[in-house]
Amino acid sequence: MAKYVYFFGGGKADGNESMKNLLGGKGANLAEMAGHPQLKLPVPPGFTLTTEVCTYYYDNKKTYPKELKDQVNKALAAVEKIMGKKFGDPKDPLLMSVRSGARRSMPGMMDTVLNIGLNDDTIQGLIAKTNNPRFAYDAYRRLVMMYADVVMEKAAGIEPKGGKGIRKVLDEKLELVKHQKGYKSDTELTVEDLKALVVDFKKTVKEVLGKPFPETPLEQMWGGIGAVFMSWNGKRAIDYRRIERIPDDWGTAVNVQSMVFGNMGDDSATGVAFTRNPGNGENKFYGEYLVNAQGEDVVAGTRTPAPINDYSQNDQSRHLPTLEQSFPACYKQLDQFQSRLEKHYKDMQDIEFTIEKGVLYMLQCRVGKRNGVAAVRMAVDMYKEKSIDANTAIMRVGPNQLVELLLPMIDPKAELATPIIAKGLPAGPGGAKGRAVFTSNDAVAWGERGEKVILVREETSPEDVDGMHKAQAILTLKGGMTSHAALVARGWGKCCIVGCSDLEIADDNKSFTTKSGKTIKEGEWITLNGTKGTVYEGSLPLVEIDIAKNETFTDLMKLVDKARVLNVRTNADTPKDAKKAVEFGAEGIGLFRTEHMFYGEGSDKPLFLLRKMIMSKTLEERKAALAELAPFVKKDIKATMEALNGLPVTIRLLDPPLHEFVPHAKDKLDALGKELHIDSAELHRRAESLKENNPMLGHRGVRLGITYPEITEMQVGAILEAAGELVKEGKKANPEIMIPVTCTVNEINDQKVIVDRVHKEVCAKLGVKKIPYMYGTMIEIPRAALLANKMAETAEFFSFGTNDLTQMSFGFSRDDIGSFLPDYLTKKTLAADPFQTIDQEGVGELIKIGIQRGRSVREKLKVGICGEHGGDADSVKFCHKVGMNYVSCSPFRVPIARLAAAQAAVEDILAVKKSAAKKPVAKKKGKK
Ligand code: PEP
Ligand code: MG
Repeated sequence: MAKYVYFFGGGKADGNESMKNLLGGKGANLAEMAGHPQLKLPVPPGFTLTTEVCTYYYDNKKTYPKELKDQVNKALAAVEKIMGKKFGDPKDPLLMSVRSGARRSMPGMMDTVLNIGLNDDTIQGLIAKTNNPRFAYDAYRRLVMMYADVVMEKAAGIEPKGGKGIRKVLDEKLELVKHQKGYKSDTELTVEDLKALVVDFKKTVKEVLGKPFPETPLEQMWGGIGAVFMSWNGKRAIDYRRIERIPDDWGTAVNVQSMVFGNMGDDSATGVAFTRNPGNGENKFYGEYLVNAQGEDVVAGTRTPAPINDYSQNDQSRHLPTLEQSFPACYKQLDQFQSRLEKHYKDMQDIEFTIEKGVLYMLQCRVGKRNGVAAVRMAVDMYKEKSIDANTAIMRVGPNQLVELLLPMIDPKAELATPIIAKGLPAGPGGAKGRAVFTSNDAVAWGERGEKVILVREETSPEDVDGMHKAQAILTLKGGMTSHAALVARGWGKCCIVGCSDLEIADDNKSFTTKSGKTIKEGEWITLNGTKGTVYEGSLPLVEIDIAKNETFTDLMKLVDKARVLNVRTNADTPKDAKKAVEFGAEGIGLFRTEHMFYGEGSDKPLFLLRKMIMSKTLEERKAALAELAPFVKKDIKATMEALNGLPVTIRLLDPPLHEFVPHAKDKLDALGKELHIDSAELHRRAESLKENNPMLGHRGVRLGITYPEITEMQVGAILEAAGELVKEGKKANPEIMIPVTCTVNEINDQKVIVDRVHKEVCAKLGVKKIPYMYGTMIEIPRAALLANKMAETAEFFSFGTNDLTQMSFGFSRDDIGSFLPDYLTKKTLAADPFQTIDQEGVGELIKIGIQRGRSVREKLKVGICGEHGGDADSVKFCHKVGMNYVSCSPFRVPIARLAAAQAAVEDILAVKKSAAKKPVAKKKGKK
């Protein structure tokens, strides 16, 4: 006979923790706590109706399997035996709760009914037994309200008249009594008030819903069970499942459990506790409780909860007596239970408990949520305590949780207490605060005066880089996650929000106004949370973090590096960034964007020379400008390679369209005209001739080198001279020359001729036989991925530029997605922003094809990724799966990529173990 009901309580349980699919998370843990020989905790007895009952219910026109009634009756009898009370007994009634419990927690999405079993008769027994009529009538009026709402209205599919549900109708009645009597809180309601309310509630229920509140306890219980099953298909639950991708056919279990009350007087209490501090990971028992209260009162925050022990005290609760002081015996017992539970589950547990008249009950336990700092500490500590192995420790920390350890963040308490004034895309994580300024020049000027500023712009361009550098954070109205502002900010580890279309900047560039009408003027403080994309008015406190001092982080990273096979490099363009990235564990540079030496600090002279080269008309003019520029390029590359001390450095030749560097400021244009001996009209003409309609698909990347071979020649010369000089100085150099935006092997071959010639020339110049280098290409255009077998004939390595590859696969402009991508995400037209997480279905397929075809002609082809996805945990896992050699990401994301790479490797091991466990063991011969 099929088993549909699992009993727990009295030191026994039919189920256990491994049965989450059948009993739901809550039911499985209740069974484990109640019945496991090492636990046997005082769980109020009860029983779980399995998820199979739920699926049966929906498959069979909302009916139950015929065996169910019998099984429920038996389980109920077992509960009554343990509790020494009878359900429906007018002298000493047993009261029950009915709660949902799916495989995965769906907080607040389904319904609950408490205090089942109360009616006009049984309440007398409750009063007699508790000697507390107020408590009894309060429980009764709560039952009538909850039952009418959940069972009689929602589950029955009754549409409330005029949109006002029965709960609201009854609530208004309660409020009216309070108002008439001049009470401020519910606790002032007297026994007589509550008694009258119960009568009134029942009368109203009959009038409004056309049916009386059922007095029979069993009818109440089955009503509650049916309502929980119905709530599996309530709108809230369905929406939540869509978001969390929980299958509809899982169904929910129902837990029917005897009630215990934390609100029976001053010898009763209820609380929530954690086996370790979820805020910082310390191995200390931590929690809060309330005397004479019900579970939801602790969560609701209407009363300040007291600390369970001295360790859990905070400024608000310091004056309150601890549980250890007020209930010493219960505390001692609870402390033993918590350590038993953690040992058993080998993870931090979140515990709910109730004390009823001095007796402790355990109501729930589950793996506790924790922040990033705590997650790292707990994983490392538990590994050292030998409670978990290295692989488990690695899997315990979410890669993105590491961000919290690296960047300053807004003090969580202050953030919670402050309203959000605008929201955008979270482009650069961490928290930052400053005075709002609206131009790059202002950011520089204010910054130089020692002011902390936040640069607010419509969008940013390379000309804004100085201001961006000086600002604490950047806030832009337009742009997506790979827009200019986002890329630059992330590279610097700077807080940044882009695509914040909730804002409008005033025409005079002196203020912005939010959608809700809030105006922030120049110089007024704002605070950004770049991890969430939220903007706040005013100056919120920040919490600074110094990673070098975080020993547990270093310990975790040691485990991580042992486990991973994928290398992690960084995208860095300056020796300073490169050094930072190496500190974070980078094993080379996967993308050195040459053009970045023309932005930011110390770039005035090289930028001027680059502009001179761009505005040159003849080959001679251009060559002369390039010759002047070469030493600057060489110096930067040499210093970066030196900082990397022999680790590979992938240097990409000039990529952006030249017009991006043409100045707009009059003084800059004048100086350029003077240098080139041309008047402003001619200068204007030359600048105009560089303009393109679609620069992203225009004259950029390798196309520049095809048209102007001298540009490639200068860059390759600078790279090889830098490397040759370092080697001659007895240092190490390991350059990889990378050609961007290629679509045919002919482009790679064309540039290779230049590289080979320059290599010979530089060797001769330096008097060396050979300068070590590799020659490869980016794969950024779908055609290049499809023809990877051709590309790999010449290219010794591939680096997938997934920013452009995504742009060109989707046909979405990287710089313009801010105007439509949010709608795609809200409407779920796309599951995720493809510029943040690799679209495995489409772009990922191109990557797979590229690697497979590339390696079909060059077995040892080195393959990496240098698009922004290289720092996204899910994308890193994908890169591991498809067999890349390395990922490359901005310095601050290096630890995230290391952890994600390690988790990908551990997941492989776990998958092998799982499939080995599934294989049937061969029967030994000779044994019958
Ligand atoms: C890319 O396209 O992924 C890439 C790394 O190059 P960029 O972002 O500089 O175009
Ligand atoms: Mg690119």
